[in-house]
Amino acid sequence: GYRARSAFKLLDIQSRFRLLKPGQLVIECGCAPGAWSQVAAPLINAGGHYASDRPNGQLIGCDLLPVSPLPGVTFLAGADFTHDTVQTQIRDMMSSPAADVVLSDMAPNASGHGFHDHEALIQLAYAALKFGLAHGRVGSHFLCKIWSGAREEAFIANLQRFYRVVHTVKPKSSRSDSAEKFLLALDCLGIKRKAPA
Ligand code: SAM
Repeated sequence: GYRARSAFKLLDIQSRFRLLKPGQLVIECGCAPGAWSQVAAPLINAGGHYASDRPNGQLIGCDLLPVSPLPGVTFLAGADFTHDTVQTQIRDMMSSPAADVVLSDMAPNASGHGFHDHEALIQLAYAALKFGLAHGRVGSHFLCKIWSGAREEAFIANLQRFYRVVHTVKPKSSRSDSAEKFLLALDCLGIKRKAPA
């Protein structure tokens, strides 16, 4: 079984967009307790542990909290992704210079104050995006969770500058009354980014 129901959100996104493929290098921000990792590891064939006839992928996950091991997956626990030292550690672990996919399901502990929570989550999303732009290859993909709010539109506009196409996804498995949604940005344009609108 999966460690958390959040697995079904990534499965739903995967079934619609075929984001993850064998051989990819994937960075996962906010991976505890590891349900997305359970979904992603076999799809990318992490560490070659899942299919001997497919290219070997690499999955590096990071979280503030501990994560139980998974075959083929590298977890950085007790690690605040917003810290440069943690990002340097991740980069040093990468088996190739640039990642194929950056995933972020990071979320702060919700305070219940919508504005504050939105703001805190947007900060995390920007941290993941900056990493994706700095360490993702041209053509790489980016998926992150956000909560609706004032800075959502500007964040989406930023994604649109740097990626060919941006989808707003509300997985079926995401509670319909929650403000949670996912932004999926495909095909990083790299330095040949679009001019700001
Ligand atoms: N996708 C995960 C899964 O399927 O198991 C669930 C992730 S949970 C919704 C959000 C996670 O983000 C929490 O485990 C939390 O500790 C982590 N998180 C929040 N802020 C973080 C930060 N600054 N650095 C790393 N992880 C963070």
